[in-house]
Amino acid sequence: MTETEQEQNEAVQQLRAELGDQGVELKTEYLIQFLIARSWNIKAAKEQLENTLAWRKESNVDVHPVATLDNKLPLLYPVRGFSCLPDGNLDVHPSVSEAVLRIYRWMGGSCLHKTDNDGCPIYIERLGHHAAKEIAKYATSEEVSHYHIGCNEFLHRVIMKDCSKKAGKIINRETVIFDCTGMGWHQFHMPALYYIRAISDTDQKYYPETLNKLYLVNAPSAFVMVWKIVKGWLDPGTIDKIQILGKDYKDVLLKQIPAENLPTFLGGECTCSHMPGGCVPSQILKNIPYMEPKEYNQNVPTAYNTETMEKGKTDELIRGPLFFQPAK
Ligand SMILES: [Zn+2]
Repeated sequence: MTETEQEQNEAVQQLRAELGDQGVELKTEYLIQFLIARSWNIKAAKEQLENTLAWRKESNVDVHPVATLDNKLPLLYPVRGFSCLPDGNLDVHPSVSEAVLRIYRWMGGSCLHKTDNDGCPIYIERLGHHAAKEIAKYATSEEVSHYHIGCNEFLHRVIMKDCSKKAGKIINRETVIFDCTGMGWHQFHMPALYYIRAISDTDQKYYPETLNKLYLVNAPSAFVMVWKIVKGWLDPGTIDKIQILGKDYKDVLLKQIPAENLPTFLGGECTCSHMPGGCVPSQILKNIPYMEPKEYNQNVPTAYNTETMEKGKTDELIRGPLFFQPAK
């Protein structure tokens, strides 16, 4: 790692210059994400960034629809405590694909829940309640990957912008809490682990340096073994941000997260009693009812139905905010 602030500024300028026309439109913080991910090696950062921009274009990621207050698109997962959108859950809505509802049925529960002391959004997942075998059996890796990208785009283009405004600085990282309560050997199912690998590969390649902190709480001792496998798939910089905690996690979480922003089941004070399912809705825990897909939920691998996905290509409202803020 370098380096003084001056050296970092020079690296950013050099990277921007080497990117030519492409570099002009990219915000400085975005360039820094790639430089940090590649340990300030300008050539490697440039290569990764160019690959990312090409991937975003080829896969129509730039025009992926995202839910905003104005376009009224449905959420792909529950959201709590942001000013850009009212609190909401994933629902059986005509624009959502059947694949998303099918995957979500077998997930232990997830929510983008308020912010931490750094102003970063907190993503909570009840990992221990995932029906890992069922997800691997009933969903394809293509469907899981599309769902993940849809969630990522919403997070970065809508939620991060909201958090940046609130914090008065650029926020481009999220804090993640994986709750392992309920975890057993059935979770360590190889096909399911390959899905996790596919998702973490996408994030490291195309969304580098977007993790603030990751806490794995209520981790069973057996996890240590699997952790040794997963570690091999991650960048060293990523490993440093991860804390694997057993039952004594409360004080560690409360150092990073205000009690009123942390659910009671994780040692905080929040209950989100105004919302169905509370802080982190879960069909598996039955705090929300099973959501049966309807005829109108298309069986396509994308997160939204085809009509909505196509609309994103031409309709700025559906597409939502730009991913990259222009450089000043
Ligand atoms: Zn809550």
